[in-house]
Amino acid sequence: MSKQQIAIIGAGTAGLAAAIVLARQGHYITLFEHVEALAPVGAGLLLQPAGLAVFAHLGVLEHALTLGAKVTGLEGQLPNGDLLVDSHYHEAGEGLYGLGIHRATLCHVLVEALKAEPLSSQITWRMGVDVEKIEDCGAQARLYGHDKSGKCDAAFDLIIVANGARSQLRPADWVVLDKPYPWGAAWTIVPECLALDTQILHQFYHGASVMMGILPTGAIPNAPQQRLSSIFWSLPTAQLNGWMKEQGSRETWLASVNQRWPIAAQWLETVIDRPEQWFAANYRDVVMRRFAQGRIAVIGDAAHAMSPQLGQGANMALLDAWALGQAMAENGQPDWPTVWQKYHTLRASSTHFYQWLSRQLTPLYQSDSRFAGLGRDFAFTWMYRIPYVRKEMAVTISGLKTGLFTGMKMADVEKR
Ligand SMILES: Cc1cc2nc3c(=O)[nH]c(=O)nc-3n(C[C@H](O)[C@H](O)[C@H](O)COP(=O)(O)OP(=O)(O)OC[C@H]3O[C@@H](n4cnc5c(N)ncnc54)[C@H](O)[C@@H]3O)c2cc1C
Repeated sequence: MSKQQIAIIGAGTAGLAAAIVLARQGHYITLFEHVEALAPVGAGLLLQPAGLAVFAHLGVLEHALTLGAKVTGLEGQLPNGDLLVDSHYHEAGEGLYGLGIHRATLCHVLVEALKAEPLSSQITWRMGVDVEKIEDCGAQARLYGHDKSGKCDAAFDLIIVANGARSQLRPADWVVLDKPYPWGAAWTIVPECLALDTQILHQFYHGASVMMGILPTGAIPNAPQQRLSSIFWSLPTAQLNGWMKEQGSRETWLASVNQRWPIAAQWLETVIDRPEQWFAANYRDVVMRRFAQGRIAVIGDAAHAMSPQLGQGANMALLDAWALGQAMAENGQPDWPTVWQKYHTLRASSTHFYQWLSRQLTPLYQSDSRFAGLGRDFAFTWMYRIPYVRKEMAVTISGLKTGLFTGMKMADVEKR
């Protein structure tokens, strides 16, 4: 495609990855980000094999592997020690693995690629700009916002909205659903958990109302020697702010974990010591009837935020960036309807599948329903005995599905 002036709003996973893909095609990118500097914030994420295929496509996989933690599978334990979930990436394909990584590390790896030659000369960084409004004016797209020095207003050939789950910029008539989840999680980052297998995402469930996760997440860039783990404790959102604030709550919590999972509790005892180490994560459910039209596209959480139950948020953001590159790869003047048709062909079915599945599964792990927990424990125990279902579950977690019976190939995404 002929060289375009493109604005990307949001320097998170989706925005940074899209900037790499499109700058590599020769386009001129202006990245608008409302924080002044990208700070090392956020807990751990699990990048699935499909997301790692995008990392290979972007040329950043090697760097990410030096900082992140290889994860070979997911094990979910009940209080009696039985594994309700026992899914390993090799069941989806030989040599597949996931990568536990901090959001800060993920962003660092992408930023380093953007700041290196030859891409750096095509990127303009506009940090500290809060974009408030966008407009498709036909021959161009405009954005309006402000920074410390006042208002800003600029025109581009294309605006890509990548400003996360709480975006106020997605066109209102594209939105079908935009609502917060009633449950979230308290999370904290601690030194790596050596009491449990360091290559596994460990989850712990008791009914649908108790869930904990321990994810190996490797190191952050400014302390590469210190390996870390992220801990997640599921809670209704109304309880998030008060978590661990009351006197004695640490001991009560540790005792309740100890009754169910003593090995995990003994380790938690050594790393949980103050209320301020916990942070709150809230989730949204965003469904859109389209992701792009005319001179505007919406990608990442802004386009399809969902609960983290399937661990697909960063993965889907990376796949969006990859698909944008594929859709815009044609030579000549841009024919936006054709570009967006191709983009939707690559992304719509996969996105709808994961959003649908996430909506079905989340109440089985995060709700007060006694029936949901019992039904889940019964059904999953049987499902895991069927080899076809085991394999399909591993493919699903790998982020490679595009529908119940269809999928994508890693090799198609990886190639540059
Ligand atoms: C601070 C932060 C911490 C997170 N921590 C976790 C975590 O611990 N675990 C997890 O699983 N997921 C976390 N996420 C979400 C996870 O990173 C995303 O699900 C995933 O990576 C998809 O990324 P995204 O680029 O679509 O959105 P995001 O990663 O949310 O990035 C959006 C970016 O847009 C910027 N932005 C927002 N509004 C504007 C505006 N009006 N103008 C300009 N810029 C704007 C934000 O500052 C942010 O940098 C976090 C997100 C953020 C922003």
